[in-house]
Amino acid sequence: MSDQGTVSGVDFHCHLDLYPDHAAAIAEAEAARIYTLAVTTTPKAWPRNHRLTQDTRYVRAALGLHPQLVAERPDDLALWQRYLPETRYVGEVGLDAGPRHYKSLPAQTAAFRTVLECCAKAGEKILTVHSVRAASAVLDLIQAHLPPSRAVVVMHWFTGSKSEANRALELGCYFSVNAEMANSDRGTTLLATLPIDRVLSETDGPFTKTDGRPARPSDVSTAVEVIARVQGISFEAATMAIEGNLRRLLSSGTTSDS
Ligand code: MN
Repeated sequence: MSDQGTVSGVDFHCHLDLYPDHAAAIAEAEAARIYTLAVTTTPKAWPRNHRLTQDTRYVRAALGLHPQLVAERPDDLALWQRYLPETRYVGEVGLDAGPRHYKSLPAQTAAFRTVLECCAKAGEKILTVHSVRAASAVLDLIQAHLPPSRAVVVMHWFTGSKSEANRALELGCYFSVNAEMANSDRGTTLLATLPIDRVLSETDGPFTKTDGRPARPSDVSTAVEVIARVQGISFEAATMAIEGNLRRLLSSGTTSDS
């Protein structure tokens, strides 16, 4: 990001390639000057995501291997490894121990462990991590296989406990927060305790809604409003904190921000 001063928002987790018109979704985020991390769910989507974001100033593509898809795509891990040198951004990766995916947890764990080991070996990576009903297991793997000096980990839509959040903070993790996370008392309570200097905003579009339709990066101010309200700070203060966090995160461990 060569022009951080002109960013008008941060959407650190959005599936731009799942909108009806992928290129138009990128163009819209770019025109709105929303720094957008365009996550993917399979490395098969990487070449197109990479190509479409090669010249964008605000949109970055991330190389993903979604835990919900790992079991049905056994060839994806090797492909993911092949593309890793092409990007600094990794995700969506992680574990999902929800009822529909619990059975594939051994395969998910093996794949996520390899992802972390490869990122540790490569260095200077930024990861957006899924941890549904698996926060402790995710943190165990990060602690064992990805030293904080080798990468920055952002916990996406974190729903773990307060003590798990504290553990993630100790491991240096950030948290990307969307508007729907405050829909439960538990989520609101957790959000209130996160230090603002570790918080980023996200939409997780198209999986969250704004005004009844899939959220887009330009809707990310709804997440910032939630963060400000729950933290008891102004919208402007939350915006400034998030942009400062983005700058710090992007500059960690490297002199280049591409
Ligand atoms: Mn997602």
